[in-house]
Amino acid sequence: MNRAITAPVITISRHRLETDGQGVTSLVVFHGCPLRCKYCINPFSFAPDTRMVEMTPNELYDKVKIDALYYLATGGGITFGGGEPLLRADFIKEFRAICGYTWHLCAETSLAVPWELVETAASCIDHFYVDCKDMNPDIYERYTGKTIRLMRENLVRLIDLLPPERITVRLPLIRNFNTETDRENSRRILSDIGIRQFNELTYRLK
Ligand code: SF4
Repeated sequence: MNRAITAPVITISRHRLETDGQGVTSLVVFHGCPLRCKYCINPFSFAPDTRMVEMTPNELYDKVKIDALYYLATGGGITFGGGEPLLRADFIKEFRAICGYTWHLCAETSLAVPWELVETAASCIDHFYVDCKDMNPDIYERYTGKTIRLMRENLVRLIDLLPPERITVRLPLIRNFNTETDRENSRRILSDIGIRQFNELTYRLK
């Protein structure tokens, strides 16, 4: 007998408006992340002692459907975050089969996962917000603790697979790690591979 897919959910944040996706969204925060960013604002998303609930896609659907009218009225839906939501790509695919195609599904991802997971997510996610940190390999590695290779390869393959309007790349200014010039270089590299939508931001340090 096949075991039901489950995923560790830390929290569900309801009634978010235009902060992480179009319309009204519920943000589902998964546990687990392959990176260790120096200024991570969600370290609980990979801490081993974080409180979380293992849920099936059906159980998650039962929780978030309370806001279905808001999603439908505003073109919103569910944004999957974390942590790294693409680690839960099979779960999200099953969730999509349950919720149908009237809800807008987004993922906030680092893309630092095996390609197979990105491909699965691409089959069921409407919009990807990719936090690429910086396209300079040295800056990326100093900031995340991992090499840039996986993220860069996945991004190139994803832009081959999906129309550019389904991908937004976030380009942060990260104090002590990159500069405006670095960010401009990243933007140029990303434009050259076909990225058309950018979201520039500055990480606020505590
Ligand atoms: S990808 Fe996000 S959750 Fe993971 S370490 Fe970096 S900032 Fe934290």
